[in-house]
Amino acid sequence: MRLYILFSFLLLAVICSCRVDASQVKFGPLCSGNSSNRKRGCDTKYGCGSYGASRDSGKRKHGGLDIVCADGATVYAPFDVTLNGKAAPYTKNNAINDGINLSGEGLCFKLFYVKPDSYSGTLKKGQKIGTLLPMQTVYPGITSHVHVQMCDKSDPTKYF
Ligand SMILES: [Zn+2]
Repeated sequence: MRLYILFSFLLLAVICSCRVDASQVKFGPLCSGNSSNRKRGCDTKYGCGSYGASRDSGKRKHGGLDIVCADGATVYAPFDVTLNGKAAPYTKNNAINDGINLSGEGLCFKLFYVKPDSYSGTLKKGQKIGTLLPMQTVYPGITSHVHVQMCDKSDPTKYF
């Protein structure tokens, strides 16, 4: 009986330490030319890149976090990831309506405005996911960026 209690505590300790680790996940560099994952600030015309920023004059909230990335730049795997299919940001198609569902490090997330080389398979940290689509053709003057969105729509900022 005593041994059983001891093992229960040990198991609990292991579970707790795993949870702590999951919250300490940090994204590695997502985009060529932005090794520090610099976040998008605010544009005069298109709002701000932070999570929860206002969209459509307050009707909507920004559901992700924007990381600065130039049109045509290479987008990298931020850690070892599995590619889980296409994630399109818009219902109405346009030149930047592409992206990818990913999982890794216990996280499920999406990257928007990226043309992936593949929609399936696995990549190691730092390997190429794809290329940033031509944002300036759709939003002239915007700070071009990768949009990072968690599958549960929670705030990704703590991972940066
Ligand atoms: Zn965004």
